[in-house]
Amino acid sequence: MNWLIGLLLWTCAASALYAEERILSEVEGKPLKVVATLSTFADLAKTVGGDRAEVATIASPRFNPHFIEPKPSDVLKVKRAELFIHAGLDLELWRWPLVDAAGNREVMAGGPRELDLSRGIELLEAPDRAVSRAEGDIHLYGNPHYWTDPENGRVIAQAIRDKLCAIDPRHEQAYHRNLREFLARLEQKIPEWRSRLAPYEGREVVGDHRAWPYLMRFLGLKMEPHLEPKPGIPPTPKQLEFLQQHITAQRIPAIVRAGYFPKGSAESLAKRTGAAVVLLCQSVGELPACSDYIAMLDYNVDQLVTVMGS
Ligand SMILES: [Zn+2]
Repeated sequence: MNWLIGLLLWTCAASALYAEERILSEVEGKPLKVVATLSTFADLAKTVGGDRAEVATIASPRFNPHFIEPKPSDVLKVKRAELFIHAGLDLELWRWPLVDAAGNREVMAGGPRELDLSRGIELLEAPDRAVSRAEGDIHLYGNPHYWTDPENGRVIAQAIRDKLCAIDPRHEQAYHRNLREFLARLEQKIPEWRSRLAPYEGREVVGDHRAWPYLMRFLGLKMEPHLEPKPGIPPTPKQLEFLQQHITAQRIPAIVRAGYFPKGSAESLAKRTGAAVVLLCQSVGELPACSDYIAMLDYNVDQLVTVMGS
């Protein structure tokens, strides 16, 4: 029996030491240090976390989220993170090297302070066969740009609430309240966004990168061919020639482009076909008008309504 008591005493002592060593915000009452890979997740974490969360972002919304080069200051952020939020799948190809460099075990894959937001999402374009990066595709596990659909925004915000409550149960009432307030605003907007595009249901637009299928499904629009022949492969002359014929034959009114996507090919295609180039926000903060999640959806819907009605 003595060995059991000894083990228990050792475990208690080790736990106490561990708690002392980790200066956790929930113990001290300071805001939680939350790090989100993308600005949209950071925005939703600020909304749900309120003044209990001190949120930092890794990827600037002005750059392609697939190809970010984290800085030494980002490594430090992740090292100190008490919650690490990311898109999962292969959206952030730079995510795990960054976490490895930070050496923070708690936020590594499967760790208690890691939140993979793709887990609750019904994915589009999930492959029905094994695919490899050698084919050039960077969406190997299904389309990872799911946050552009506000129905998924709801799922993401709920997942953040659940994780914050698990990590910091002392403030769970605040997290529940913040989520309720956000969802009330979102639920009010969802039918409005849908009804504004309803007159154009089934109309087709062309895209840049395959980042918009969730938004298109939500709004009842169609987007099949893209400037990129495959996700991650820049537009080729053959693809542009095909798109020129397709846009003309189908009388497609618009080519959708995110701010980070090179504008040359979209604009030359627009000149040759008469289609308009529409700049949408893929991430919160990409343009001043997209200052938060709901403002981003407002802006994207406004842009699409304008181009469809013209
Ligand atoms: Zn992508």
